[in-house]
Amino acid sequence: MPSETITFLGTGGARFMIINQFLASGGLWLNLSGTEILLDPGPGCIVQATKRKLKADKLSAIILSHRHLDHSADINIMAEAMTQGGFKRHGWLFAPADALETEPVIFSYLKDYLEGVEILQEGKSYSVGNVSFTTPVRHVHLVETYGMVFSTDKHTFSYIADTRYFDSLCQNYSGELLIINVVFLKPHSPAENPLLPIDHLSVPDAEHIIRELKPKVAILTHFGMSMWRAKPWQIAEKLSHQTGVRVLAARDGMRFDLSKLDNT
Ligand SMILES: [Zn+2]
Repeated sequence: MPSETITFLGTGGARFMIINQFLASGGLWLNLSGTEILLDPGPGCIVQATKRKLKADKLSAIILSHRHLDHSADINIMAEAMTQGGFKRHGWLFAPADALETEPVIFSYLKDYLEGVEILQEGKSYSVGNVSFTTPVRHVHLVETYGMVFSTDKHTFSYIADTRYFDSLCQNYSGELLIINVVFLKPHSPAENPLLPIDHLSVPDAEHIIRELKPKVAILTHFGMSMWRAKPWQIAEKLSHQTGVRVLAARDGMRFDLSKLDNT
């Protein structure tokens, strides 16, 4: 039986982590019963993917949650790889309008190699091969950003991409599995450091969201420096005790098999 897996090409997030690569970046590679989708190809995606023998020409789509560099830096090379250097017109790109308009993250000649581009919008549904997904709500982030709820014939899982906390996150991302980008250990206020982008979730935000959504499993990822120093696997263990939900911290290269959700 074909399996459903999610490979974490990297688990680092935000500027200082990414420019130092203490943790890798590169996004998530979904293989859902044979439909392969790349989510948020950040810097190093091509390196992490080829190292793990993941074949970009098997991808049916690349999805960008938003245009920030840690989510989109390798979009061009991955589009080139997905289309075998442009020799095979193939694959779709899904992205918010502001990733494609005034200063597009993808070169126009590469866009021509694709089967098509679809614009992500709040409250819409999309499909790729055997997979459908929705972008339920626009996030509160510096640029236009969406998370996704994916459904296959076997499983549902949600991805909460970068955002500041807001209440409707707790209503829009139910699923058996929750993947959540947690950049900060502690909440920050703009008064502390006006240069720090505060539009990210912290551990207390994640705790609240996990409690409300009650997935079977939650996976923390996209760690900034404060999270990395605090040892994400210890945070995850603490959150498991606090919430009663099995919480894991993603590791670079980790492959999560969705069939694990069936016996939870
Ligand atoms: Zn961002």
